[in-house]
Amino acid sequence: MPDYTRRARKRFSQNFLHDPHVIQRIIELIQPGADECLVEIGPGQAALTRPLLEHAAKLDVIEIDGDLAAWLKNEFRDDSDRLDIHHADVLAFDFSTLQSDKLRIIGNLPYNISTPVLFHLLNYPGLIKDMLFMLQRELVDRICASPRNRQYGRLSVMLQYHCRAESLMIVKPGAFTPAPKVDSAIVRLTPRQPEQPAMNIDDFSRLVKDAFSQRRKTIRNALRHYFTPADFEQMQITARKRPEEFSIADYVMMSNYLQSSGT
Ligand code: SAM
Repeated sequence: MPDYTRRARKRFSQNFLHDPHVIQRIIELIQPGADECLVEIGPGQAALTRPLLEHAAKLDVIEIDGDLAAWLKNEFRDDSDRLDIHHADVLAFDFSTLQSDKLRIIGNLPYNISTPVLFHLLNYPGLIKDMLFMLQRELVDRICASPRNRQYGRLSVMLQYHCRAESLMIVKPGAFTPAPKVDSAIVRLTPRQPEQPAMNIDDFSRLVKDAFSQRRKTIRNALRHYFTPADFEQMQITARKRPEEFSIADYVMMSNYLQSSGT
């Protein structure tokens, strides 16, 4: 095999997994079923692809690095009936072109684009059964955070609105080559119907983004373009609290108030 590890490409956030225990644990956490359609983002040198292929009926992988995509095509030429290798940027990839509405998406994600990848996947609510990702630990902490917590923010609200989020395992830098500077963690995201749905998801997203764009401000100041003091009173929202003090249900309620009041 060519030595892709030695010339790992920083611009593609290439930190290749080599620890067999971590790889085995990830496969156990996924428990791929024999009839399931799996999708791997960033297969790299196939550390996860190979064991996934042992279990899965169908595997699609999406890799941006042309050298790695070509190597994968050659390496797995005998599995082309079960493995589709897409040489593509995941951020431009249309997941609705895949032949399943119960996709299981997996990836040791490129850390430089993890957040945009997560938001891209939120565009496919009905197609995804679950997702299991290796991310920077700090990002997993933010995804899973609860209100009144330092890490709680836009990412927590938007991801938890759409999915159940579980932090499953911490992974130390030594499991990768080259070793990243920070700890990583594995998160499982399981899409679900929100308990209290937002009437307009785009408006909800915008409101949440604006609320947390200046998290030191009170909610009254952060959302002053949306609501008057009388609106906050009507909604029974304590306007001098900070954005991180409000639950997902509070943000849904604020967004739905805008809809129903026609503001
Ligand atoms: N899965 C392999 C492993 O665990 O060893 C590689 C993981 S490495 C952290 C991230 C992988 O994502 C690399 O193979 C990289 O080339 C690929 N990648 C980076 N940016 C990408 C993008 N925008 N679209 C698809 N793949 C990308």
